[in-house]
Amino acid sequence: MLNLILFGPPGSGKGTQALRLVKRYQLCHISSGDLLREERANNTSLGQEAQKYMDAGQLVPDAVVIGMISNKIDQQWNSIKGVIFDGFPRTVAQAIALDDMLAQKNTQINQVIALEVSLEELTQRIVERGKVSGRSDDTAETVVKRYEEYQNKTLPVAQHYEHQNKLVAIKGEGSIDDITAALSAVVDRIGQ
Ligand code: ADP
Repeated sequence: MLNLILFGPPGSGKGTQALRLVKRYQLCHISSGDLLREERANNTSLGQEAQKYMDAGQLVPDAVVIGMISNKIDQQWNSIKGVIFDGFPRTVAQAIALDDMLAQKNTQINQVIALEVSLEELTQRIVERGKVSGRSDDTAETVVKRYEEYQNKTLPVAQHYEHQNKLVAIKGEGSIDDITAALSAVVDRIGQ
């Protein structure tokens, strides 16, 4: 199996690049943000619980997200070649839970790829996206909070995987095609 984590701050292009990589490598895309928005759209109790955190730019509690991802992995497992995780894990507790889930299935994360983008560029991208995305959290005010959450709670996830020698960083600025090419070069090297 090939299991990847696309890592990076809000607005770094994880979703865009994940869609391209899942096609190229025939992997399953698991995006915690998309799953949470789906729960909200379906007005489930999980979605209602998540909404207040998301709209405030805060992380949704670990137990909620871990349960949701664990269900998703179990549903998809039999037919897949591997997974690209996008937006998950976002805390060290989530990373430990993910490592355990995969170990139980006799597999593991192969590589964590971090997309590096400056705060100025992130802010600009998210505000632009907000004009078309309809996402209530894509505003200049919420970006600041989301970035703070990233710095305080999510960056330690990079260290967690650096200790496992699984972290590689690439520049997330430039053309979308160039970034896909840089990511694909990393994926192609895995296992060689
Ligand atoms: P972005 O990467 O642009 O912030 P996402 O769609 O990944 O967008 O996430 C949107 C919001 O959903 C986050 O600000 C957070 O409230 C919630 N969320 C997504 N993934 C997680 C997660 N793994 N743990 C906790 N909250 C999450």
